[in-house]
Amino acid sequence: MYVPPRLRGAFRTDETARALYAEGAGIFRIVPAAVAVPADLEDVRCLVRWAAETGTPVVPRGAGSGMAGGNVGPGVVVDLTRAFREPPTIDPVARRARAGASVTYRELNAAAAGYGLRLPPDPSSGAFCTIGGMVSTNAAGARSLKYGAIRDWVDAVEFVTADAEPGRAGEAAPAADSLTAAERRFFSDVAPDIRRHRAQLEARGPSTLKNSSGYDLSRHADEAWIRNLLIGSEGTLAIVSAVEVRLAPLPEELSTLLVTLRSLGDVAPAVDALGPLAPSAVELLDRTYLDRVRAAAGSRLPSDAEAVLLVELEGEGRVAADRLHGIAECTLLAADPSAGTLWELRHLASPILAALPDHMRSLQVVEDGCVPRARLGEYIAQLRDIATRCGFEVVIFGHAGDGHVHANLLADVTRADVVERLRQCLDAVTAVQVGLAGTMAGEHGDGRLRAPYLDVLYGPLFVEYCRRVKAAWDPGQILNPGVKIAPADALGAGSLPPDALKVGSRAPALPAEVAAALRRVEREASWGAFRLDLAPAPAASAPRRTPVEP
Ligand SMILES: Cc1cc2nc3c(=O)[nH]c(=O)nc-3n(C[C@H](O)[C@H](O)[C@H](O)COP(=O)(O)OP(=O)(O)OC[C@H]3O[C@@H](n4cnc5c(N)ncnc54)[C@H](O)[C@@H]3O)c2cc1C
Repeated sequence: MYVPPRLRGAFRTDETARALYAEGAGIFRIVPAAVAVPADLEDVRCLVRWAAETGTPVVPRGAGSGMAGGNVGPGVVVDLTRAFREPPTIDPVARRARAGASVTYRELNAAAAGYGLRLPPDPSSGAFCTIGGMVSTNAAGARSLKYGAIRDWVDAVEFVTADAEPGRAGEAAPAADSLTAAERRFFSDVAPDIRRHRAQLEARGPSTLKNSSGYDLSRHADEAWIRNLLIGSEGTLAIVSAVEVRLAPLPEELSTLLVTLRSLGDVAPAVDALGPLAPSAVELLDRTYLDRVRAAAGSRLPSDAEAVLLVELEGEGRVAADRLHGIAECTLLAADPSAGTLWELRHLASPILAALPDHMRSLQVVEDGCVPRARLGEYIAQLRDIATRCGFEVVIFGHAGDGHVHANLLADVTRADVVERLRQCLDAVTAVQVGLAGTMAGEHGDGRLRAPYLDVLYGPLFVEYCRRVKAAWDPGQILNPGVKIAPADALGAGSLPPDALKVGSRAPALPAEVAAALRRVEREASWGAFRLDLAPAPAASAPRRTPVEP
């Protein structure tokens, strides 16, 4: 392969390196043509310029913890964990922070905590996911019920376009002379038509509290349009290099409750009853989840619950128990610091699922559906039913306050028909989500997994405009092609390419040592580990760090 000239970071084309970047979280496995680890912003620009000249697709990648397959692809996977390491700076008076996109959520929050502040949307993956990855997927978390997704906290995004130009998008409308070529193309070629069709573009789509599916095409056409377009664009429009965010004070008092629900029909009434108290989190653990963790949880879990809610309030919690009287049983009221024990229940499943026997895997295929809150019980019942019909055990948990649940399918991957049944399950669950006015992605984005269903969710006009926006920002189609927007012939049901998955008889083969290392990453959730350190480089292709002239 022709190597990018003047790149100072690593560029590897050996089998080991390519295999190490063939997977992220989620179900996809695609062996890339090469792996690049740019050293800084100039290196990223150099790489993008080369990619544009050679027509090479680039796959921007942070920690690789994204579940929808946006962090893998057939071109050059660009590991951005080294390029944008600008440490967080905190302005405690303005309650604002700035950090390079490679900084993790945990690192940013640790810096903010020193000033009694935090960035409230708190993904469970905060220990390892990068700020760039969070912005690119519009990530959210348990406390998004009260505080919204990352979109609600981003003040400004700095980025590199497909033309290798640096840019910045904040609150104010950009001055004409400061626009990048990509923005100029967007404002001249597409923006006027989006404004004209705004009502039609917004007529379809989910009626949910959370959504990270599709581009934010028109909802922010009046203010901070570019910033909002880039948030959730999953590396398909630009590469995020730095982020400025607002911060909130750390809460002074926290109370948590464990609420036992005897019927799925009680989910919505219980959540509604808590609404006036503005809880910071209402997390749901479904029966399918409780059954899995019961042995580890001991006496903390009721034996006959259809689901439990973990409720967090910033303040005194007793009043919540009163509000739930007659709807659900409030079995435990804990004030900080014992609250930790309750949240441990929420995190018990990961090690248990990670310890599944070798022939079983916990797969994320229908893992991120979000529906109007009043329909959540109905959605969970249908989800359980479809999973059973397709021959999978399912583990359901998530953010009941937002009508949003995660669902892991437990699959025997030695079965010959596993991929076909996964595809059927994906088709059926997607139809239910859309039928309930929900979205396929509450917080994980579309990636490669859900891109083919975008027209089912939003209709053809929306998809047409997504394509036009993509063409304006990335005319050479080098930034993550196939992610977020599927090729025209892959639209609709029936996608889940068997030769691009971790499971099934057509899964791409990986060297045994690499396959074992990647399985360990999943089992131990060690997404923060630097991939090229997971297996030794073949002597002949050690990382190149010196400039190479063309
Ligand atoms: C155990 C576990 C728990 C999780 N919990 C949550 C949760 O609570 N909430 C939640 O929202 N998600 C969660 N996730 C999913 C994932 O952590 C988030 O989507 C996260 O934001 C991805 O960050 P990352 O750095 O790993 O990005 P990656 O996975 O590397 O990339 C994700 C997408 O963003 C793009 N991208 C990454 N960095 C950049 C950049 N600098 N510029 C442009 N594009 C970029 C990639 O191309 C890709 O499309 C979880 C994942 C795991 C494994």
